[in-house]
Amino acid sequence: MEQLGKDRQFTGLGVSPGIAIGIAHVRETGVIDVPEYVIEADTIEAEKARLSKAVKVAQRQIRRFQGKAAALSGAAAEELVFLFDAYQQMLGDSRLVRGAEQRIEIGRLNAEAAVHNEVSEIAETFLAMDDAYIASRLDDIREVANRIIRNLTRTPIKPFSALPAGSIVITEQLTPAGMAQLDPSVVIAAAATLGGAEGHTAIMARALGIPAVLGVPDLMAETHNGDTVIIDGGSGRVIVDPSDKTLDKYKRRQSDMIDARRRLARLRDQPSVSRDGTDFGLFANVELPMEMAMVQQAGARGIGLLRSEFLFMNRARLPSEDEQYECLRDLVEAMAGRTVTIRSLDVGADKEVGAVTGDLDDSAASALGLRGIRLSLLHRDELETQFRAILRAAAHGPVRILLPMVSAVSEVHQARDVLMRAAKKLRRRKVKIPAELPPLGVMIEVPGAALAADSLARVSDFFAIGSNDLTMYTLAIDRANEHVAHLFDPLHPGVLRLIQFSTAAAQRAGIPVSICGEIAGDPRYTALLTGLGLRELSMTPSSILKVKQRIIGMDARAATQRAQLIMDQTDAGRIATLLDDFNALA
Ligand code: PEP
Ligand code: MG
Repeated sequence: MEQLGKDRQFTGLGVSPGIAIGIAHVRETGVIDVPEYVIEADTIEAEKARLSKAVKVAQRQIRRFQGKAAALSGAAAEELVFLFDAYQQMLGDSRLVRGAEQRIEIGRLNAEAAVHNEVSEIAETFLAMDDAYIASRLDDIREVANRIIRNLTRTPIKPFSALPAGSIVITEQLTPAGMAQLDPSVVIAAAATLGGAEGHTAIMARALGIPAVLGVPDLMAETHNGDTVIIDGGSGRVIVDPSDKTLDKYKRRQSDMIDARRRLARLRDQPSVSRDGTDFGLFANVELPMEMAMVQQAGARGIGLLRSEFLFMNRARLPSEDEQYECLRDLVEAMAGRTVTIRSLDVGADKEVGAVTGDLDDSAASALGLRGIRLSLLHRDELETQFRAILRAAAHGPVRILLPMVSAVSEVHQARDVLMRAAKKLRRRKVKIPAELPPLGVMIEVPGAALAADSLARVSDFFAIGSNDLTMYTLAIDRANEHVAHLFDPLHPGVLRLIQFSTAAAQRAGIPVSICGEIAGDPRYTALLTGLGLRELSMTPSSILKVKQRIIGMDARAATQRAQLIMDQTDAGRIATLLDDFNALA
């Protein structure tokens, strides 16, 4: 007997390759996990301050809705204005907020649980009144309470910690911080209704080696806890309740992939030199310290991009200088003399870090708002703390410092001033740092920065081209949005020209330049990027050997000629054909 399963198939964006067969754990839409724990007596005031901050953020969020509602007209608008006024009252000196404060103070409860428990008690009182109007107000109170809890748990605390091994998470949305908390030895794959292929959730999934499919419509409604699920993170297929035949097919594919990985592993100690003798530096992008084993296995020449956000994620308070230093020192020491490029904090856009962006509303920390270096220059003390930690780590091995989201020369000057101040303080404290300060480089990921690359090159020690954001901002396409994912095309001539121009600007100025966006780790683009003059590529560690294989089989001179031909084209489709033809030949 075969064909027990029904093979319900769904297609989304395959964002992290690999095949996983496991058991569905469905995280329902709108359900908020509320962590509950007892707090220490000496943290009561801090916990109350955390609640008050979350309430203030909620007030600001509602104020934005009020502004929008006021601009509308008609009866529905009036209704909305009334509703939002009521929300603001509930966020004021209300029973909800006062009750939650008391639970923190007297019950020593964490803020999320305090709000949750208070609303449960209010609900009991309201329901006992048996009045339809009052019952309907209860939904509003719940809405307000959920908003406060969501603001508090922007940094979710182990959201998927209690799952059995072999789980596949099926949910509406996974944030990068939520993804970072998945334990790959327990959660073997993930799928979500929302999300684009180049967003940070996708990047985090690739870093963890967790096969993932994002942007899968209807998935939540059609999958139940306990269903057997196959995730094909390469093709973007999700199969719920597979038949025996389908299961067998995917098990075979799984073992083919393991064989292919084993074959690639043999390239680890081979030099990354093209057929005609050009040497290329293959570096690792690192999101989480747990990737270091993979960095070593892949034989990376160094770390080309350490996304330092992990130090700040999933926590209520900022990490201290010592805490940052200890973690960075371990990474630098593990690289044993190979360079580690540490990027200063890049939050904002799809990367939320509650401890930093918690008091900003969504528009302020948007992709066009206070992101990366802009946010850091607003909080210079925190930037200085991070620089001090980096400078101390630099005493243990070669380090470079990289600034994200730079758009103006003045930002580099200001950041350098902060760096000098950090160094001066440490020297005064007689803390060991290198005699010569680490090189300070900039990410080229804003079109204006690419176009002004000549001026930026004069004030920077190196460039790292971030093709993910460069593509997003050049083409005006949100990299984390599934609706426009099909339009996200780094082969657009506009993007390629900016990459070419900034590479040439760095070369003219005699400073090193590398590329660290996702295209650097896709062997399909290797010939083009190297043909444009790039000699250093930085990528997720699991891509290094695939790119090395491409380089070993490639003629660098022929790649340059093909890149020249490509740069004469005006159409992304024609560029793709010319590139694919070249890849098929070589
Ligand atoms: C990029 O934008 O290409 C990049 C490497 O930075 P991130 O993906 O972290 O924004
Ligand atoms: Mg970027």
